Amino acid sequence: MASWLARHGIQPTVVERASALRLGGNGVDVRGDAVTVVERMGLLPRVRELATDVRGMQFVDATGRAVARIHTQDPASPEIMRGDLVALLRAATDVDVLLGDSIRALEQDDDGVHVTFEHSPARRFDPVVGADGMHSNVRRIAFGPEERFITFKDHYFAFADTDAALGEDRWVTMFNTPGKMAGIYRSGNHAQAKAYFMFRSAPLDYDHRDVAEHKRLVSEAFAGEAGWRTRQLLDSALTDPGFYFDALGQVRMNSWSDGRVVLLGDAAWCASPASGAGAELALVGAYRLAGELAAANGDHRVVFPRYDAAHRPLVNDKQQIGPNVRLKVPKTDGGRCVRDVVARLPLMKAMSAVERRAQARNARPLPDFTRAA
Ligand SMILES: Cc1cc2nc3c(=O)[nH]c(=O)nc-3n(C[C@H](O)[C@H](O)[C@H](O)COP(=O)(O)OP(=O)(O)OC[C@H]3O[C@@H](n4cnc5c(N)ncnc54)[C@H](O)[C@@H]3O)c2cc1C
Repeated sequence: MASWLARHGIQPTVVERASALRLGGNGVDVRGDAVTVVERMGLLPRVRELATDVRGMQFVDATGRAVARIHTQDPASPEIMRGDLVALLRAATDVDVLLGDSIRALEQDDDGVHVTFEHSPARRFDPVVGADGMHSNVRRIAFGPEERFITFKDHYFAFADTDAALGEDRWVTMFNTPGKMAGIYRSGNHAQAKAYFMFRSAPLDYDHRDVAEHKRLVSEAFAGEAGWRTRQLLDSALTDPGFYFDALGQVRMNSWSDGRVVLLGDAAWCASPASGAGAELALVGAYRLAGELAAANGDHRVVFPRYDAAHRPLVNDKQQIGPNVRLKVPKTDGGRCVRDVVARLPLMKAMSAVERRAQARNARPLPDFTRAA
């Protein structure tokens, strides 16, 4: 968003609560119109160079024997480590960034928004864009508590750095017990590997910014799990300071704007990692919002409804997450056996091709805002 605004001649200020870029996370897909967006940013060749070469998902038994594999690699939709994408976008964005800060209050009037920060002096802005993730602070201030907007999808998940030797090159390897999955994401052309955990649970009461508490919750969920390499994965993941944990949740809002405040990315429509569409939706949404702002000279009354109408069909499609969670985390041993049989059939690839074609039909065409840039 900031990069596109700067290209359109609008000077944004970015506020990031962390003291440095957050480079954690697994591979994320640059898919559909997001490929066009990164191409228009001039970043597609680098995205392709950095792309992981993961072939797909494999499910193993307690001894490590692969019982089913699903090929997911699609050369038209590169998968890239989230950290590589973040670093690439940052390098392409020459704007002011206030690191280690957060918005404390927003007061709108006819001419702008008076913004008070936790640390920096207060300033005025024309619009304020909340692109601060599923637990958005801007959304809480402008729209209300997150419980009104987040739907919990019965699971928690965690990602963390781990020893690459624990996984097989070019596969996301997963091991299940009922309602639990321990896995490893291992690209063949990256030294790094990511441990990946998911478990089914009733809602838990915890502080979503307390990493020590997150580690304790995952340790408790996998206590007594000794099959395959679960113990080693857990032990190494627990030493990673960048351990990332969250509820599998979706954000649903009737409107993404209120006056001069607008939301973008997971703050507005988190579809959850189970959708595989977080990066795609954020890249396309940012391109549309920045482009509409430039095209309408920043008139938020025109821009925000246009952005909402144009982007919502894609968001609605991607929030239909289908059987993805049941595939990765079957509830029972019987469910796991059925999953293994289904995964061996050549059905999965055909199903996702049908799904992609249906989504392509619903998506609104991407305007060429680069002419204005
Ligand atoms: C560390 C990390 C790892 C992730 N790993 C994966 C993954 O492996 N797979 C996957 O599908 N999705 C992952 N996600 C989510 C994925 O990045 C998003 O779904 C998608 O890219 C949309 O991005 P976003 O910018 O809207 O939100 P996010 O990527 O969540 O970024 C939000 C940003 O806002 C910052 N922020 C939060 N609160 C404040 C505040 N009060 N003030 C200022 N800044 C604030 C955060 O530090 C973060 O940098 C991860 C997110 C993070 C933060």
